[in-house]
Amino acid sequence: MSETVSQIPFVDYLVLDDGAPHLRAHECTSCGARYFDRRNACAACFGTEFAPVDIATEGIVRSFSIVTFAAPGVDVPFVASVVDLDGTTAKGNIINCPPDPEHVKLGMKVRLATYSMGTDDNGVEALNYGFEPA
Ligand SMILES: [Zn+2]
Repeated sequence: MSETVSQIPFVDYLVLDDGAPHLRAHECTSCGARYFDRRNACAACFGTEFAPVDIATEGIVRSFSIVTFAAPGVDVPFVASVVDLDGTTAKGNIINCPPDPEHVKLGMKVRLATYSMGTDDNGVEALNYGFEPA
C-alpha cells in the first residue's frame, strides 16, 4: 500500500477544497442560469458570459431511479438521483445508503459526499461525488 500523495476530482465541476468538497457551476451573468458542463452560450438567454459559482452541499432528492441493470463491470443496484441543492439542480448517485425504496425517499435531505474511484501507481487518488442521507 502506497500512501496517497494527492487527490484529483473525477469531474471538473467537483472542487476538493480542504475538508469542504463542493460542486461549482458556470452561472450565466445575464440571467443566472447554472450549468455544470461548459457552455458556449446560455440555453435560456443565449448569453455568452459565465462566472463560477459555488453550489450548496445540502439539498433535497427531487427524483430518483433504482438502477438494476447496467453495463458489465458496473455494480448494481445503485440509485441515480436528481437533487435540488438550494435551487440548483444536480445529478448524482445516492451513496452510503441501501439502494432500495425503504431507504431512499422523494424529499429526503441529502448532502454531498465524496468517494474514492481508486488510486494510481503514483499515489494520486481520484474522487467522485454522490449524495448521502443528511
Ligand atoms: Zn442566460
